[in-house]
Amino acid sequence: GVSSTSALNMAMEQTYIMIKPDGVQRGIVGNIISRFETKGYKLAAMKTKQPTKELLETHYCDLVEKPFFPKLRDYMLSGPVVCMVWEGKEAVSTGRKMLGATNPLESQAGTIRGDFCIEVGRNICHGSDSVENAKKEIDLWFEEGEVLDWESHSQDWIYE
Ligand code: GDP
Ligand code: MG
Repeated sequence: GVSSTSALNMAMEQTYIMIKPDGVQRGIVGNIISRFETKGYKLAAMKTKQPTKELLETHYCDLVEKPFFPKLRDYMLSGPVVCMVWEGKEAVSTGRKMLGATNPLESQAGTIRGDFCIEVGRNICHGSDSVENAKKEIDLWFEEGEVLDWESHSQDWIYE
């Protein structure tokens, strides 16, 4: 990640949001970007990427022993993903709320998973679950210099 020097950004969080291969295949990329954009979060980084086995085993290191892991890995290997860093006040916990529950049948309507999917093995998106994990995930999925620090002209209209 990128460390910022501005006073406002010191209080800000960055979260790693990833659109999984089903979200890309189903053409939901623009809708997901739009939700974070119109919420008021700032896009600090974005790219498409073909995940590798090694990347996924590190990203999902807590899940590699789970019986569903081979299916999860094949699902995530099945095509390109969209990797993003969104920045703003409480971006990590709010990002998780915007995604919805892991199981889409338990996700609230109005969330991404609640609105667009049905099964846990096709749940469209990933979002960091803590500030610490967000830092690890951003470092894992992005190279040096890909996460940008820039000043949004909307800042004073989003934050009081
Ligand atoms: P998340 O943080 O909400 O994405 O959920 P987890 O970190 O617990 O799991 C990571 C991802 O693994 C989920 O988003 C699902 O795509 C997948 N997953 C989790 N539990 C299951 C399961 O029981 N079966 C299957 N097939 N996939 C699962
Ligand atoms: Mg998780």
